[in-house]
Amino acid sequence: MLHLKTLKALGEGLDQGEFSSEELTRHFLDRIERLNPQYNAFITVTAEQALAQARAADAARRDGKAGPLTGIPIAQKDIFCTTGVRTSCASKMLDNFIAPYDATVVSRLNEAGMVMLGKTNMDEFAMGSSNETSWYGPVKNPWDTTCVPGGSSGGSAAAVAGRLAPAATGTDTGGSIRQPAALCGLTGLKPTYGRISRWGMIAFASSLDQAGPMTQTAYDAALLLQAMAGFDPKDSTSMNEPVPDYLAGLDQPLAGLRIGIPGEYFSAGLNAATGAAVHAALAQLEAMGATLVAISLPHTELAVPAYYVIAPAECSANLARFDGVRYGYRCDKPQDLNDLYTRTRSEGFGAEVKRRILVGTYALSAGFYDAYYRKAQQVRRLIRNDFTEAFQSVDVIAGPASPSPAFRLGEKTADPIVMYLEDAYTIPTNLAGLPALSVPAGLVDGKPVGLQLIGPHFSESRLLNVAHQFQQATDWHQKVPAAVQSGDEQGGAA
Ligand code: GLN
Repeated sequence: MLHLKTLKALGEGLDQGEFSSEELTRHFLDRIERLNPQYNAFITVTAEQALAQARAADAARRDGKAGPLTGIPIAQKDIFCTTGVRTSCASKMLDNFIAPYDATVVSRLNEAGMVMLGKTNMDEFAMGSSNETSWYGPVKNPWDTTCVPGGSSGGSAAAVAGRLAPAATGTDTGGSIRQPAALCGLTGLKPTYGRISRWGMIAFASSLDQAGPMTQTAYDAALLLQAMAGFDPKDSTSMNEPVPDYLAGLDQPLAGLRIGIPGEYFSAGLNAATGAAVHAALAQLEAMGATLVAISLPHTELAVPAYYVIAPAECSANLARFDGVRYGYRCDKPQDLNDLYTRTRSEGFGAEVKRRILVGTYALSAGFYDAYYRKAQQVRRLIRNDFTEAFQSVDVIAGPASPSPAFRLGEKTADPIVMYLEDAYTIPTNLAGLPALSVPAGLVDGKPVGLQLIGPHFSESRLLNVAHQFQQATDWHQKVPAAVQSGDEQGGAA
């Protein structure tokens, strides 16, 4: 079954001529056509373009010009601009927006020879933890279609979990790669802030946003990161740091590794069975030679409140450009300029986006700036200092990626605060700019649980190494939803 193969296995199969990229691409396009109606993972499917890219990849391979990713399909989160293809950010505001250029992430993966299958569903403007704020409707978790896939990269997560794509891209402002990866049984990496260019990635909170891979294995995440990472003169916040060989360090043994376990990540908000699965994963790492060290990250509790001042403040500035003048939605028959702005934005944005813009505008306004925004920035520094301090004595930090497994659709939509707490363990790393990933580490009630690993700035190699070693000793990453395994999915046999 082609769709159960990792990027690594697909690359080998293509190299050995077991199948062509065109056959592979058709296989995934068929699955999308048949199964996407039940998951709603894709907003746009680019079948024609994908087949053209696949044929070009097959030709490149015949000419001896294939790299490790040439001819392999991928799904792109609909936050990345794609030339000639709708880029909606899951908002009515951009439903009619055809990007005139490719995001750097997209052009790099194109240059690597990858085949874009389409654009994945997400929370509107990446604001959410359940994919329920999308203008195109919620995404269903392939492990249990009554449950959410997580968010905001929920379409990407569901696409890979349901094997409608072998891998996908995501973005993570406060957890949007790691939390859906955890809830869908994937490996999801949020790199160091600045490691991957944000050019052409629609901005939510510019000081926190970072793109990254969502894959079946740590090995595959290393392959994708290799193609995505690197300096980009078009993004002033991208770092001019050399890109290491991410595959080179994967086999390093774990002996001597010091893993910090923050007590704050195992507090009352953590579901007991999730905590037990994470502890079992930690015991596994210990058995492989790592040392577990109890640590404290004392300001953890302040991360969610600080984030919900900083992220809305930045989003209120970033989303000011959607005014009905430049591009995107425009209200019908505006009376005057004020009416144009007011109605365009009232009609074009969904409720969660409006909530964030209101909170952010308030926090930045004269008289409240010092009380909220400045205070939040001070808290941000304390959180970053906690990590700096901890990394004096440990190499990586481990804990849960999310407080519970996938929850039911609608379960947390009534109270925004309950939804915001989904990211209690992921937000601190965005505030500190650190790399972190989630790896599958167990099943609770048949639903995946993610182990989160956090490292110092630019320690992606080490994090991928620990995740890869864990995946050599466990098989959680190989588990797929029963119907995907048996080929017995609703919509017909494979
Ligand atoms: N769930 C968080 C939010 O709603 C994080 C989203 C993200 O990482 N893009 O802001």
